[in-house]
Amino acid sequence: MCDNRHVRLHQAYGFALDPTAAQQRALASHVGAARFGFNWGLEQVRASMALREFELCMFGTVRTPLLGWNLYALRREWNAQKELQAPWWRENSKEAYSSGLAALALALHNWSESRQGKRSGSRMGFPRFRKRGHPVGCRFTTGAIRIDDERYLTLPRIGRMRTCEATTTLLRRVSAGTARILSATVSCEAGRWYVSFGCEVERRVPASNGHQDTVGVDLGVLALATLSTGETVVGPRALRAGLRKLRRLSRHHSRCQKGSHNRRKAAQRLARHHARVANLRRDHLHQLTSRLAKSHRRIVVEDLNVAGMSRSSRGTVEAPGRNVRAKSGLNRSLADASFGEVRRMLEYKCRWYGSELMVADRFFPSSKTCSRCGLVRDHLSLGERVFTCSACGLRIDRDLNAAINLAGWAHPDVAVSAPETENACPRGGQTGPRPARPVDEGTGIAPEPAGITGGPRQLDVPYVRC
Ligand SMILES: [Zn+2]
Repeated sequence: MCDNRHVRLHQAYGFALDPTAAQQRALASHVGAARFGFNWGLEQVRASMALREFELCMFGTVRTPLLGWNLYALRREWNAQKELQAPWWRENSKEAYSSGLAALALALHNWSESRQGKRSGSRMGFPRFRKRGHPVGCRFTTGAIRIDDERYLTLPRIGRMRTCEATTTLLRRVSAGTARILSATVSCEAGRWYVSFGCEVERRVPASNGHQDTVGVDLGVLALATLSTGETVVGPRALRAGLRKLRRLSRHHSRCQKGSHNRRKAAQRLARHHARVANLRRDHLHQLTSRLAKSHRRIVVEDLNVAGMSRSSRGTVEAPGRNVRAKSGLNRSLADASFGEVRRMLEYKCRWYGSELMVADRFFPSSKTCSRCGLVRDHLSLGERVFTCSACGLRIDRDLNAAINLAGWAHPDVAVSAPETENACPRGGQTGPRPARPVDEGTGIAPEPAGITGGPRQLDVPYVRC
């Protein structure tokens, strides 16, 4: 009854590296070369655009052909000029420069799409020059890329390198022939080196995870998640816990003399603290989402407009916002809880483990509806932690009430399979109890169309503009 499907998908495996001093220099050189490639390409594109503009003004016509913005055109230009422009280019793998140009091509494409209104999300600016230390990863696609054993791997030009953590997960798959390494990207974060292997993985995806229940998950600020089963998952609140230290480190950094060694050291300490907080948060979210995807048949979450919720309420000089301080505290909590990340993880994990993710309509009043009699209240302030129903007298925790409503939203008749929910606009394809009512004004949530980006972390395949 429970038949398994084998699917091929792209998945990234990341490991922290433990390079020697010489290898660290080689890695830094490659990442610097990628940055050089990015900046060089941007300079060419800007010069070409400026020249064409000048010609149009002076002669009324454009004589210089536009430098292509796709990776191939940029790489052709680089190959023609590299001996002259950077005679030392052989010190690094040619893929380092190519990585920088690929990042530039993608940035230009994103800017162009955003300007034409073809790209969702906030507006993208024109690419800017990358300063020293700005992360541009270096991606290897050819050459000796392999995992030697549980502790060592080999990268082109860098050589055999030790890892900080065991590579068993990927090694086992490669040995069994269910994973093929396509690329390796090295990057540096807060002084630590990482490699990310882009792999084509053959996964056995079960049709079902053996459970039949539906669970509603209300993501919140006080508790990270409240389940309709009554369980409350307390979030790591990692940022808040580390806030005191963060303030101290930031203060120390800002009081150091600019350009001094101490300032650089303070910046490194601050970056390490930020990275630690981010790692704690990510670990917690992975544990939560894995457990949910493995132990429930259907998971229903709200379609939260995180960008709208965490928008600052500062307002403008003419029209100053209200409750700015209180809202910024809420924003911090929201960012801390990483709602968007929870959903992104749930989307691909549900597909892996044979469960279904359903996203309730943004206008479904999960908090304001009574989970016993269905009465919808007109108003429910953010401060009201206990939901009280005037019709049936139910008194219940606000988040639990919302979670139960979400579980009820997933009517069995409208169950959709996981792949279909990927880009689902629930209002389009499904039916169910969802009175279209505006969301609570107090939260400042504005309705805004948003697609769900989903699936396992995709490889950043260089974009090619044709
Ligand atoms: Zn009621």
